[in-house]
Amino acid sequence: MRDLLSKLPKTDKILKEKIFSHHNLTLLKKITQSHIQVLRENALKGEEIPDYQSILENIATIYKNTLNPTLRPLINATGVIAQTNLGRSIFSPALINEIAPLLSEYSNLEYNIEKGSRGERYEHITTLMSALFDCEDCIVVNNNASAVLLIVNTFAKDKEVIISRGELVEIGGSFRIPEVITSAGGILKEVGSTNKTHLTDYKNAITTETTMIIKAHQSNFKQIGFTKQIEIEDIIKLATQNHLIDYYDIGSGYIDGINIHSEPSLKDIAALKPSLVSFSGDKLLGGPQAGIIFGKKHLIEKLKKNHLLRALRVDKFTIFALQATLKAYLENNLKMIPTIAMLNQTQEELSTKAKEMHALLSNIPNLKCEIIQLSSKAGGGSLPEEEFPSYGIALKHKHLKTQTLNDKIRQKGLIARIQNDQILLDMRCISPHHFKQIQDLLLQVMSENAK
Ligand SMILES: *Cc1c(COP(=O)(O)O)cnc(C)c1O
Repeated sequence: MRDLLSKLPKTDKILKEKIFSHHNLTLLKKITQSHIQVLRENALKGEEIPDYQSILENIATIYKNTLNPTLRPLINATGVIAQTNLGRSIFSPALINEIAPLLSEYSNLEYNIEKGSRGERYEHITTLMSALFDCEDCIVVNNNASAVLLIVNTFAKDKEVIISRGELVEIGGSFRIPEVITSAGGILKEVGSTNKTHLTDYKNAITTETTMIIKAHQSNFKQIGFTKQIEIEDIIKLATQNHLIDYYDIGSGYIDGINIHSEPSLKDIAALKPSLVSFSGDKLLGGPQAGIIFGKKHLIEKLKKNHLLRALRVDKFTIFALQATLKAYLENNLKMIPTIAMLNQTQEELSTKAKEMHALLSNIPNLKCEIIQLSSKAGGGSLPEEEFPSYGIALKHKHLKTQTLNDKIRQKGLIARIQNDQILLDMRCISPHHFKQIQDLLLQVMSENAK
């Protein structure tokens, strides 16, 4: 045995090899030591030690893989458009081209060129926001969770915040409205019951310590049956009568240009002149991750003075991408916004894509493939009950288990879902430029698993 182990190469010798002369020594040493450790354990179990050259090659491969970027593009065949795990909203190449020059040069992000004085990064979106929503003022923070935190911390620290028990939602990724309110220093005053809250519940909860009434969108769930929540219109009225701030956390929020009737658009809400509204930039808006806040000017000004804002401040990339996104809405150039473009596809367009995809896949040996009707989702906790009829492809391998096939295509970058022991590819988030890629990766899986 000792004889066998003595055949293991020495780390120092490997580190001096010429093929490693340009490698980072610290990383190379770590990888080499742990690789030799694995070989030692294997040898003790009776496995043969590979020849020296193969060991070098293995180490070189591990080194290369370690330095490979972990992020990679994926094809979203799930039919869920703002898929949080897959990066929520994506950008169009046109939008990236529009902002690219700003990213590789200095810019007037916080600089007033006219006056040669300091400017404000939020100013770059104020005019667009007021054109879209006719709002007095706005501000942008890191995400919508930050918006809730900033608003409650600014106006309700050690003060009472009233919110319906039916709206104490958890969004996922450990964001819970009640926890955020308390973390921000607000005193939570829950009113009503889980399924029903009346206007009188709000009225009765108002004390001299109350500063704000929050309405939070239920987002990712829907109550049906014996239920009642108060509309934002009535909350605004009640707050105004009692000199309180009304704040609507809309969550997703959409501008227009999509066929949704189950809930009001951001423009509808803005027309009610609420004190404050916040929503995510990368859900149905289809822009960068951000928490967008609009409302009354004197309140936004207070938000700007909160020192927390510095910690929640958005990067220039966000401002650039948000400005381009809002501009696309104002110019009704919705093709610039993939989230909206994908939502707006007609049944015909989806069916045509399914047929084209099917033609490319139907000749692959051992793969059964058929066109089926599906229904896609908005995702990101938006519009949970809304189904968007779609077309797709159902796949099944003649020998491989469906789960195994799904594992293999996922590892090659195609994210699908399984239903009734079939792999479903929803065409909604698949573009024609993916077709060949999907065909190639399936062919690859087939040849790797040829019997
Ligand atoms: C999604 C959501 C949030 C969190 O927004 P992020 O932008 O993901 O931080 C907060 N409130 C509601 C109602 C939401 O739907």
